Amino acid sequence: MRIRALDGALQKARVGEIRLEERLANYTYMGVGGPCRALVRPPDLVSLERLIKLLGELEVAYVAIGGGTNLLVSDQGFDGVVVSTDALQEWTETSSSSLRTGSGVTTSRIVRWAAGRNLSGLEGLAGVPGTIGGASVMNAGGTWGDISDSLMRVEVVTGPPEVHTVTVEAEALNLAYRSSSLPAGSVIGRVELGFTSEEEPHAVERRTTETMERRLNTQPKGVRSAGSTFKNPPGDAAGRLIEACGLKGMREGAAEVSEKHANFMLNTGNATATEIRTLIERVREQVRIKTGVSLDLEVGTLGFGDDPVLRTVWMPPVKGRREAGRMAVP
Ligand SMILES: Cc1cc2nc3c(=O)[nH]c(=O)nc-3n(C[C@H](O)[C@H](O)[C@H](O)COP(=O)(O)OP(=O)(O)OC[C@H]3O[C@@H](n4cnc5c(N)ncnc54)[C@H](O)[C@@H]3O)c2cc1C
Repeated sequence: MRIRALDGALQKARVGEIRLEERLANYTYMGVGGPCRALVRPPDLVSLERLIKLLGELEVAYVAIGGGTNLLVSDQGFDGVVVSTDALQEWTETSSSSLRTGSGVTTSRIVRWAAGRNLSGLEGLAGVPGTIGGASVMNAGGTWGDISDSLMRVEVVTGPPEVHTVTVEAEALNLAYRSSSLPAGSVIGRVELGFTSEEEPHAVERRTTETMERRLNTQPKGVRSAGSTFKNPPGDAAGRLIEACGLKGMREGAAEVSEKHANFMLNTGNATATEIRTLIERVREQVRIKTGVSLDLEVGTLGFGDDPVLRTVWMPPVKGRREAGRMAVP
């Protein structure tokens, strides 16, 4: 489908702000990535549902993004529509210890809210960038707990052909280490979280601050990255393996393995996505050769032709598949 026809159809359906041929470098924390056909920002769940229905009818590939903090987009970009949850900012305090928000609300805002009320559950996510929708899909977290500790349910617009808004209880998402079973094309529109009241005054604030400090001491700060590149293999840490292989500081153009945390690949300036991807593959290969361990990606890659199509990208039926971009989410 030609870009003008796509624009016309999107305009007519009233699905929110439309930005044509938008460069995705502006929407990823890594700061790399070529254009998509259109980036659309639905303002509410009704518009989101209309958008997904339309994209299904038009057979145009799409993917949802939140803060783009766990994504590496290719220099060629994504030949489809990017559904940004950025405008889904609803905020309802459903009780003194629970909250329902739009999926585009930042995780850090919710962590601050909970800490200010001495509500426990999300302090392990202090300092994790991105949105609460992205955190739910990734089951984001750290050594002090995951979002699964607080996530009660999500409201999801299901992918084509049966596009509906449904409520899904957290247990049905099968949240595991940095993964969920959200089907391809389903977009989380709202998230509901429940917390535990702490008796000891300021306990949550203290733990939140400790988590932040620990992060500042162990992770690179003020540099573009996508967080941890690889998942930790069972019983070990990807960063430890990469460091043990002597790969800290390894470079490919302006992409570099962080000296501070070896599992972080940095864009030290104007790195291309190709350089970052090449560095990732060189690191993976070296670790495999030297330790025998095959590392799996934690970062989702979008628009690299050789990736398998996994969870969050919706692809049109086979006849349109030639046109679509590709994405891998571990
Ligand atoms: C400096 C740094 C530190 C980090 N530290 C941590 C850490 O300690 N722990 C951790 O777990 N992660 C960490 N991350 C990774 C990342 O921040 C988290 O995974 C984050 O929760 C992703 O949220 P996002 O909104 O940016 O998602 P995105 O990067 O936009 O998307 C991630 C995936 O979720 C999908 N997605 C996003 N929103 C939706 C939605 N509403 N509906 C359906 N699918 C959606 C996307 O298609 C994609 O597959 C870090 C990243 C950085 C840059």
